Amino acid sequence: MTTILTAAALHTLDPAATGDAVAIADGRITAVGQLDDLRDAHPGAEVDDRYCEQVLLPGFVEAHSHSMAGGMWSNLYVGYFDNRDPDGEVWAGCTTIDAVIDRLSAADAAMDDPLAPMLAWGLDPIYFPGERLVADHLDRVSTTRPIFVFHASLHLATVNTALMEKEGITADTMAEGVPKDGAGNPIGELQEPAAMRLAGDSFMSMVMPLMSPEGIGAFGRLARNAGLTTAVDLGSGSLAGDGMAGMWQQVVNDPAFPARVSVFHNPGHGGPSDLDDVAALIGRRREESSEKLRFGGVKFVLDGSIQGYTARVTEPYVNGKDNGLWLVPPAQLADWLRPVLDARLLLHVHCNGDQAVDVLLDAFSEVTGGAPYDDHRTTVQHCQLTRDDQYRRIAELGMCANLFSNHFWYWGDQHHDLTVGPERAARMNAAATVLANDIPLSIHSDASVTPLGPLHVAWCAANRQTASGRVLGPDERLTVEQALHAVTLGAAYQLRMDDEIGSISVGKRADLVALDADPYEVGAAGLRDIGVVGTVLGGDHHAVG
Ligand SMILES: [Zn+2]
Repeated sequence: MTTILTAAALHTLDPAATGDAVAIADGRITAVGQLDDLRDAHPGAEVDDRYCEQVLLPGFVEAHSHSMAGGMWSNLYVGYFDNRDPDGEVWAGCTTIDAVIDRLSAADAAMDDPLAPMLAWGLDPIYFPGERLVADHLDRVSTTRPIFVFHASLHLATVNTALMEKEGITADTMAEGVPKDGAGNPIGELQEPAAMRLAGDSFMSMVMPLMSPEGIGAFGRLARNAGLTTAVDLGSGSLAGDGMAGMWQQVVNDPAFPARVSVFHNPGHGGPSDLDDVAALIGRRREESSEKLRFGGVKFVLDGSIQGYTARVTEPYVNGKDNGLWLVPPAQLADWLRPVLDARLLLHVHCNGDQAVDVLLDAFSEVTGGAPYDDHRTTVQHCQLTRDDQYRRIAELGMCANLFSNHFWYWGDQHHDLTVGPERAARMNAAATVLANDIPLSIHSDASVTPLGPLHVAWCAANRQTASGRVLGPDERLTVEQALHAVTLGAAYQLRMDDEIGSISVGKRADLVALDADPYEVGAAGLRDIGVVGTVLGGDHHAVG
């Protein structure tokens, strides 16, 4: 049975496929052309004009996100920017510490059990320079209820005095990552997972829902509402246990789940520590892939974040902060990469700072002898401070770049003023340089670090505008066409799925997005204001809700 979808405008991102209608059968695109021609060619086909006032594009693809973006919403959002939850409700940003306290207090008043822990997320202290959120602030919300506030980076949390008393975090606590005041008392900040685990049940009840069927379900709704038909879970967990892999299969293979998901394994989150064993494990998992669920990717994280001053940089941070952290010892990296590349698994490596990129390129060259096997698609993730000379090496090694373009809006002013200064801020996420070097490009949200939203990411890459209105590095702006390519075919390529998704092409899966305005008409400035009406996944319709 063939269905012909009509649209006010159709942008296929495939020069060989033009027209105003798409024919779909058995979940695949069978023809693209003018409605009359398609009707003639498919007698008896049903014409579905539900999108006749909308603009159809290939479904968007996100090549750097984390499924915990869904589960986060089982807790209270206290981030700085407005954010839309999985049910479509917009939560206004908390732009002062008082606003954070007010939102926590309102939630406290609405809770029945006075001793139940309160969990919140999204706080980013970089927006509150000069004042550090500490336990005293949270004690204004409650002196009896344990309160745990996860920072946006997921590397820090702030807790109140009631929580510290309950869990025995005191002046005598000698653990690393528990800063103290002048009198020797803990201030309420818990840094990195080992310290956060001191928060006991509160921490666990914050973390457990993040990788649950409900959390993944919420991730699917966020993806659909953003117009994504495929998203990655880029190494949020380990695929070593059958439990986690089985949970992914149960949730994503359900026909009602509205997206395809590529799930990467991160050896840092559990499972075998021997990388030969990791490669064998993920090679086996790859065989368990389905139409909607893909295994077979491995992710490593080399350094931290720029705004957290934990990214590794060759030139110091401008405000004198120490250089960042290595999360993989550089000398060991080649030994980690070798088994993964030998097994022909898809390898994505997080490198925010340029020193991390140097280490990756050296290790990759050592493993491959500078001549990688064909079509490896190894991707430098974030790639934010990468220099021109490094882009030339990335091109020579046949690697891809996935840039964190959302940074311009969320932290561009902070990078300009506080972290790396105007010169490096202007060449961050240098998308035009990536394309000039013929490097396969995508751009991403890193959700939950910033919200899923390919049109917002595309807007950032096409405008490079900060929250205060500065434009950083105007020469690196993408055109609308380039930005849309990066969030469709560009991302699909890096997930090794471009042969089946990423453009509206005959033979590919019928994955589309319906928009309420035409990106080419509204232009670069209007991209983020375009509304998503719904998606089509393998021919099935999923309305935004
Ligand atoms: Zn990430």
